[in-house]
Amino acid sequence: MTSQNAPKILVIEDEPPIRKFLRISLESHGYYVMEAGTAAAGIGQATTEPPDAVILDLGLPDKDGLHVISTLREWSKVPIVVVSARGREADKVAALDAGADDYLTKPFGVGELLARLRVALRHSASVASHSSDPVFKVGDLLVDLARREVTIGSEAVHLTPTEYRLLVVLVSHAGKVVTHRQLLKDVWGPDSVYENQYLRVYMGQLRRKIERDAARPRYLMTEAGVGYRLKDE
Ligand code: CA
Repeated sequence: MTSQNAPKILVIEDEPPIRKFLRISLESHGYYVMEAGTAAAGIGQATTEPPDAVILDLGLPDKDGLHVISTLREWSKVPIVVVSARGREADKVAALDAGADDYLTKPFGVGELLARLRVALRHSASVASHSSDPVFKVGDLLVDLARREVTIGSEAVHLTPTEYRLLVVLVSHAGKVVTHRQLLKDVWGPDSVYENQYLRVYMGQLRRKIERDAARPRYLMTEAGVGYRLKDE
């Protein structure tokens, strides 16, 4: 049972059993599901009946899923969550840099998929309304973007301007993985996208300031070979 204003999810996946599994899982959580078995059908559906989010398999029979991402990104900001059997870091980076919002490697649990989907939908809603909350909070970490203040519990955290910029970029994508390339571009500029050592150094500093145990972070998670994710729940 789905209501009139249930979020519309377009599932682009060529394997019928996986498509069925996704349909049943999503519908039982109140989503309305549209299905496509090829890249061409998926792009067609997204054009005629724009979905609220896309779940995309990369291995499609007619075109690669990366082609679907770049085609949709020419005209749409719809959140795209990739679900793929390709677990290599290079594949994740390619999909994220092409414009995907998130990436799950098969097999994955329904709970994890729903969590990623919630983050993607929430993020697109706040982008659409231009009214993202000026205060970000997870656990005992609080970032007040309006006052430029960071606190852990009741203690103020003193960040350098670069550490703060890095944290703000992660906050603006909270819950989603941000690639090394995107972080470097947003914090240090387009000429610095290969300066991975900047990131390692500053991420280490940031962790020492906002994590209780920098070696076992609770907020700033490493996505090995891909980037970083700031938890948001
Ligand atoms: Ca496939």
